Formats: sequence, structure tokens, C-alpha cells
Amino acid sequence: MTISTNAAALNAAALSTRAIHAGQEPDPTTGAVVTPIYMTSTFKQDGVGGLRHGYDYSRSVNPTRNSFDAQLASVEGAKYALSFASGLAAIDVLLRSTLKPGDNILLGNDVYGGTYRLLAKVFVPWGVGLDVVDITDTAAVSAALAAKPYKYIWVETPSNPLLNITDIAATAAVAHAHGTKVVVDNTFASPVLQHPLEDGADVVVYSTTKYIGGHSDVVGGAIVLNDEETKDAVAFLQNAAGAVPSPFDSWLDIRGLKTLELRVKQHSRNAMKVAQWLESQPADLVERVWYPGLESHPGHEIAARQMHGGFGGMISVQIAAGFEAAKRFAGATQIFTLAESLGGVESLIEHPGAMTHASVAGTTLEVPANLIRLSVGIEDADDLIADLEQAFKAI
Ligand SMILES: *Cc1c(COP(=O)(O)O)cnc(C)c1O
Repeated sequence: MTISTNAAALNAAALSTRAIHAGQEPDPTTGAVVTPIYMTSTFKQDGVGGLRHGYDYSRSVNPTRNSFDAQLASVEGAKYALSFASGLAAIDVLLRSTLKPGDNILLGNDVYGGTYRLLAKVFVPWGVGLDVVDITDTAAVSAALAAKPYKYIWVETPSNPLLNITDIAATAAVAHAHGTKVVVDNTFASPVLQHPLEDGADVVVYSTTKYIGGHSDVVGGAIVLNDEETKDAVAFLQNAAGAVPSPFDSWLDIRGLKTLELRVKQHSRNAMKVAQWLESQPADLVERVWYPGLESHPGHEIAARQMHGGFGGMISVQIAAGFEAAKRFAGATQIFTLAESLGGVESLIEHPGAMTHASVAGTTLEVPANLIRLSVGIEDADDLIADLEQAFKAI
């Protein structure tokens, strides 16, 4: 089906212009400037097979979803974007539509716990081989790729929760030399700070629940890519299995994406201030701060080259007094809310070992017990620092 959008006309425009205008033509019926929420499951046909602009049934295609897909593809500078009911639904459909039992995946050793759970508990029993590698070590990656044929190498950079940095271009060069495709989970950086397709990645995945939605009010995911054959396979399974977002979800994603650049730059500025403050704390309070914007971060040089305009809003910090103190710290903040997830305007704090990453306990992906993860919001940075200061006093 062909659904026209204005996205191509905006190709030369800057990201902020594309974010606001791509896929956002005024509604043809009323001229409504904002894409309506087309809350309809089905569309009237003008005679059997006489579809209006290709619309037949909302699992297959919906104008609000189509508008977000065109907007996101344009923001990414990609040919195609397909959105899903969650980030994990997007990952599931990408893998199930392009892998078969006997294929192998090489996974970085620090990834979102839910991604690991899906691979280890669903894809491995289905017959997919899974190996884990220190993905920041190009020599280790190269040795692993030479040892076995891998369909995909799975890169999360910055990674969740340790904010490790992988050199996408260097990884893509080795992977492609071995016929392996590169998937980058770009959720933490967002399309504002990092452009994996330009750096050589084959597929980008997002949890739009995070920075793209940006207001902690929608769960969603997306696959962004240029390869038509993979796009067709993903689109087939998306329609065949149906893990699509609702029109209202798509509308929230559209609204979020319009202000993504403003928000992500402010998240980054705030996080840099908070990370510098944390790093300046005495050693009996803070053992270590993980933020790619700090020169002390092992991936800082690569991040400075690979990320554009900031290092993102995520910080992890190891609390010197250990596990119990870390839990008390996470419960003692007043502006940072104790909750899972990230990327919304409000600051959140969590304990990965007991919360988001409980599913990797006992594996090579286990995270330090005294680790606290901060999603730094867009409140005033000094208020956020004062909140952390009083929480340290409370432990
Ligand atoms: C949250 C998250 C996911 C999963 O997305 P959902 O929308 O929660 O399904 C995948 N990758 C990363 C890096 C995430 O933070």
C-alpha cells in the first residue's frame, strides 16, 4: 500500500525541523494541524477493495501510527521506521522475523535486563544460540566473530545500567567482515545524540517508552532501518502477529518526538552537572560514578566522538557503604522518584540489582549490588543536587 507523506521533502532540513514537520501534514478533512488520534479499527471501502489511501484495518495500518513512523524515520535519516506496542515487542518481531533455530546472536555483556530475558528465556529454548562478549573490547569481539557464524551482534551504547560505550563504526567494520549484521539499541542516546545507521549499523531499535515518548506516559517501541528486505520481513510479522501500538500511543509518541531535541539536550546538561557533583563527593560516600561525559569514564573518548551534543541523562553511581546503604539512598530522595524506567521529564532513581536487572542475577551480566541508577530529568540541576545531598545525609 502507498501512503504519501511529506517526509521526503524535508530530507535536507535540520533534525528539529524534521521532528516537528515530517509525517505531520494537516488532516485532509478538516485541516487540523495536529495529527488526529484515528481511534478506529476499520475503514470504509469504496466498493470491495476500494481502499481510501491504502487504509483497511488498524492492525495493518493506521493513520496516526503511520504519521509517527514517517516522523521517526525522518528524524533518524532512515528509509523505514515501524512502531510497536513496546520496545521488547519491537525486538521480538525483528528477531523472530529474521532468525531461525540454529542461528546465533552475539550479545554485549551489559544490556537491558528484559532484552537478556527475552533472548535467554524465549529465543534460546527456540533454538537460537546466544553468546555474551565484552563488547567494548574490539579484539574480543573480533575473536568471537571469527569463531562462529553470527547472524547479529547486539550493541547497546551507552549500555544499561553501566553506561559502557561501544565504538559502533569499529564494531560494524569487524562484524560486516564476518557477514554479521549489527543491531544498535539506541534507547539511551536517542536519535538526537547518536546516529548508528550513519556509523554503519544495520538496524536501530528503540524503546519509545523512554526519551522519545519522554513523559513517562506511554509504552512503545520501534525498529528503524534502511534495508528493504528486512523491513518487509518485520512488517509481515508485525501484521501477522499484531504487537502494534494503539492510535493514542502513537499520538503520544508523535508529541514526544517533536520536543525530543530540546529535552535531551537539557537532560544531558543536567546529568553532566549531577555527575560532576557526585564525582566530587568524598570516597566514603561515592565509590564510583559511571557517566560517559566524565573524563574518568573508560569510554569517554569514543563517546565524545560518537555522541553529538551531549552524553545523555543516565548516570550510575556505586554507593561506598554497600548494598543496604544503596537501597536506603534510593528510598531517601524527595525529587528523584523511586521507580523503574527512564527518559521522562521527571528524575527517577532505582536499584538495578533488585529492580530492572533482577533477571540477570547470577549470570555474567550481573550488576554491582551497590549500584544506583539515576534518570536525570529536566528539573533545575541545583535542586536535583540538593536532593541527592540530603539523601546522602539520610543513609
Ligand atoms: C526499556 C528498554 C527496553 C525495553 O523497552 P520496553 O518499552 O520497556 O519494552 C529495551 N532496551 C532498553 C535499553 C531499554 O531501556
